Amino acid sequence: MAGKIIEINQVDYEKEVLSAKAAVLDFYSTECPPCEALATKYEALSLLYGDEIKFFKIFRQGNRELAQKLEVSGSPTLLFYKNGKPAGEKLTGGIRRADIVKNLELLIPEEKAKAIREKTKPVETKCRVAVLGAGPAGLTAGLYLAQAHIDTIIIDPALPGGYMATTHQVSNYPGFIEAQPGFMLAHYMGEQTKAAGAALRVAVDVTSVDLEKKEIVVDGVETIKAEKIIVATGSSPRPLGVEGEKEYRGNGISYCATCDAKYFEGKDVIVIGGGNSAIEESLFIAKFAKSITIVHQFAELQANKEAQKKAFAEKKITFMFEHEPRVFKRHGNMDMEVEVEELKTGKRKNLRTNGVFIFAGFLPNLSMFPDKFKLDKWGYIETDSEMRTSVKDVYAAGDIRTKAYRQITTAVADGTIAAISISKELV
Ligand SMILES: Cc1cc2nc3c(=O)[nH]c(=O)nc-3n(C[C@H](O)[C@H](O)[C@H](O)COP(=O)(O)OP(=O)(O)OC[C@H]3O[C@@H](n4cnc5c(N)ncnc54)[C@H](O)[C@@H]3O)c2cc1C
Repeated sequence: MAGKIIEINQVDYEKEVLSAKAAVLDFYSTECPPCEALATKYEALSLLYGDEIKFFKIFRQGNRELAQKLEVSGSPTLLFYKNGKPAGEKLTGGIRRADIVKNLELLIPEEKAKAIREKTKPVETKCRVAVLGAGPAGLTAGLYLAQAHIDTIIIDPALPGGYMATTHQVSNYPGFIEAQPGFMLAHYMGEQTKAAGAALRVAVDVTSVDLEKKEIVVDGVETIKAEKIIVATGSSPRPLGVEGEKEYRGNGISYCATCDAKYFEGKDVIVIGGGNSAIEESLFIAKFAKSITIVHQFAELQANKEAQKKAFAEKKITFMFEHEPRVFKRHGNMDMEVEVEELKTGKRKNLRTNGVFIFAGFLPNLSMFPDKFKLDKWGYIETDSEMRTSVKDVYAAGDIRTKAYRQITTAVADGTIAAISISKELV
C-alpha cells in the first residue's frame, strides 16, 4: 500500500487502532468515487503525519460488524483516535484535505503540528487545460479534451456531477428510456471522463484562481498551471434576503429536496417559490411529507403547464398565492415558523411548520473571479459562440454563462463546444 498506510481487519482493531497513541482509520469501499477522491489525499497526508499518527484503512463491506459497532454507515468514513479514545469529528462523504488536517492536528502536540505544516512542500502541476467545475459542463469538456489527448485537470470543491448529482430523477437526458437518478448520471459522466484520461481534483479547497497567469491553487499546496481555463462553476440558489434565512440555512431551511425531503416523512412543509424547481421539487417532497404549503408571490405559478397540472392534482399540496415570507423563526428541531405577508392587503400571519424549502432562482458562482469577465445584465458570463470569454484563453461553459435555457443537455453542449474549440487552438 502506498504511503504509510496499514490495511487492517476488524480483528486487529483493538490491538492496532486502540493501542496507538494517535490514529486515523479510513472505512473504504470499492467502486466508490468519494473513496477514490480521498485515497490520494490520505496517502499524501500519511507521508506527512505518519511518524506521529498511525494511518489505517479497513474495507467496510468485509468488516461489517465493526462498521456497525462504530456506527459507520457510509464510505468513506474517517475516524480519529487519541490514546485509544475517539477524538475529533467523524468525517464522511466528499472529505476535504483541510478537514482531515484539522482533525489530525488535534491528535498531536501543537509544536509537532507546526513543524509538519512548515515541512509541507508546495507542489506544482502543469497541464494544458484546467477546468473549474465538475458538473455536466466541466465533465463533458474534460471528456472531449482527454479524448483529444490534451492533458486536462478538472477541479471541484464538491464531488463530480454538480446539480445533476443531487437531482432526484432526470427524465430528459437523451439515451435513457427510463428516468435516471441524477447521482447515477453523475457517476457515469465522472467515470467516463476519468476513463478517457482526464485527471480530477475533487472535494478540494480552491484556494485561489489567477485567470491571467492561468494558475489555480488547490488545498493551499498544489499550484496547477494551465495554458487555458474553462470556467464551468454553475450557479447556486438565490437567497431571499428574508430575516432568519441565513441563520437557519441547513437548520430548518433547505434548498435541496433531493438532499433533505426524506427527513420530512409524515411532516408538514412550507415551500417558497412557484417556478419549475419549486413545483417539481414540491412533487418530490410530497412522496414523504404529510402536507406542503406553497407560498408564491404571484397570482399564478410560473412552472410549466405539465408540472402545474401534477401539482394541482396532488392532494397534499395547497397554495398561498400573492404572499411573501417576511421572517423565519426556529423554535426547535423540526419546529419552524414563517411570518408571511399577503401582498394585496399587507396583512401578516404566522405559519407553524416542520421545515422550509426555498426555490427562488439561482445566482452564478463567480465570487472567485470578481470583476474579471464581461457579464450580461443578470450577472452571467458573456461568451462568443465558441465559449470564449472576455479574458484571453479563458472559456465558460454551462449554467455560468449567458443563455436562455439552463439544462444538463445545454451544459454538456457548452462543454463540448469549449473543448473542441480549445482542441483546435492547441494543435
Ligand atoms: C433542483 C434542480 C433540478 C434540475 N433538474 C433538471 C433536470 O431534470 N434535467 C435537466 O436537464 N436539468 C435539470 N436541472 C438543471 C441542471 O442541473 C443544470 O443546468 C446543470 O447541472 C448545469 O451544469 P453545470 O455543469 O453548468 O453546473 P453545475 O451542475 O451547477 O456544476 C457546477 C460545479 O462547479 C463547482 N464549483 C462551484 N464553484 C467552484 C469553484 N470556484 N471552483 C471549482 N468548481 C466550482 C460546483 O461544486 C459544481 O460541482 C436541475 C437543476 C436543479 C437546481
